[in-house]
Amino acid sequence: MLKNMIIAIDGEASSGKSTQAKKVADYFGYSYLDSGAFYRAITLFFKKKGITTANRIDKNDLNKISLNSKYDDGKNSIYLNDEDVSNDIRSTDISEIVSDFAKEKTVREHVYRHLREFSENRSTVIDGRDIGTVVFPNADFKFFLYAKPEIRAKRRFSEINKDDINYDSVLDNLNYRDITDSTRKIAPLKKAYDAHSIDVSDLSIDQVFEKVLSIIEK
Ligand code: C5P
Repeated sequence: MLKNMIIAIDGEASSGKSTQAKKVADYFGYSYLDSGAFYRAITLFFKKKGITTANRIDKNDLNKISLNSKYDDGKNSIYLNDEDVSNDIRSTDISEIVSDFAKEKTVREHVYRHLREFSENRSTVIDGRDIGTVVFPNADFKFFLYAKPEIRAKRRFSEINKDDINYDSVLDNLNYRDITDSTRKIAPLKKAYDAHSIDVSDLSIDQVFEKVLSIIEK
């Protein structure tokens, strides 16, 4: 039997990880997992209970959280206890507090379990911050995407298209999350020593994809 492939695409906030991961999954017919969406879904669960800082988490509550995702025809849907929360997890409220929740060891272990179980029997492309360093250190291919914060914020802002959000708040949130994610004690955002770095600042989506593909197919 052919071995399952794991392709890890890590990088900074809004560096285009999920876009590339989906393209790679589509191209090879692999499954796709957005690990950040799971951290967002857990954050949403606690926020709905009125808990907005991670130090108030009741660890037993994590056992009540089941996470699932379905990737179909370019669309990734995220389920929190069987409820589709794909839109809710993208709100500004969640973006502002998710990195605080993602610092917690128990939260991370909960997400790791889901990621590892899901990809046990299938080839999977996974995007995140610590996929190549911690979750799948033996991944078959590892990529690390990065770009200047202003460029990432501009791209993110153009996708949001909401009147109540301005460019500066998008930039502030990206910077805040990158700093929180890269300075935390557990599984910080960083390039795996054996990951391929790609500076996406001056590249189109297709140009980044060509680079990723050329490395995989080499
Ligand atoms: O990928 P996305 O930007 O949606 O991730 C939201 C947040 O989830 C990140 O800012 C980070 O705090 C956390 N995260 C993480 N590890 C991952 C993926 C995301 O800590 N592998």
